[in-house]
Amino acid sequence: MRALTAVDVLQLWERCASLHPVDRALAMLQAGWPHDAPEALAALPIGERERRAAALRVHTFGPRCEGVGECPGCGEVYQVDPPIDAILAAPEAPREPVALTVLDHELVVRVPDSRDQAALTWCHDADEALRALVRRCVLSASRGGQPCDPAALPEAVLARVGDALAAMDENAETLIELACARCEHRWVLAFDAGEFLFREVTARARRLVYEVHTLARSYGWREADILAMSGRRREAYLQMVGR
Ligand SMILES: [Zn+2]
Repeated sequence: MRALTAVDVLQLWERCASLHPVDRALAMLQAGWPHDAPEALAALPIGERERRAAALRVHTFGPRCEGVGECPGCGEVYQVDPPIDAILAAPEAPREPVALTVLDHELVVRVPDSRDQAALTWCHDADEALRALVRRCVLSASRGGQPCDPAALPEAVLARVGDALAAMDENAETLIELACARCEHRWVLAFDAGEFLFREVTARARRLVYEVHTLARSYGWREADILAMSGRRREAYLQMVGR
């Protein structure tokens, strides 16, 4: 893994704003793991993609993480500590197919990846999404030794397969329970490490644009030369021009 450079940050900010969050996360991972093929990154379990986004976040911006949001009840702004350490420490999901017995059905399944997640964006509701996901992730199914159609599994089997896939990949979904100090509203936030990283990329990019603007105007330097400097050196010059 390599940390995102100032040039990476600006390019990702420019390129990724209009992308789907899944594609955005993969683009950021590609910058951090330039030697991994795009198809290999897309084939990582969703939780592993999340773990890498969290690792890239820490490697690029440092260990201190804070997020802010708004209470859905009253609009109060709150601070949240993203569970980065837990995401980094979670066991990695299996990357090979796994045999599973569910209610007398013998199945071979694989954990969902980014391609599956992207394919589900067209589903209208959670039930449809679960069925579509199982169709993609159940590689084979049989009952009493007789092969059966993975697309025609009973609802109870589908639900258990969904639970089993979630248990195999802890990082695929990170939920944070929150309570508002002002209105006592309670809710659960689904934390997305990729989107968290992109918010910080955006904030850093805006700051970099401002720094380039200020230094280019003061010294006539080129953008590429300003971005090639360390943050410390840029900061020293910014102090000299009184920002
Ligand atoms: Zn509130």
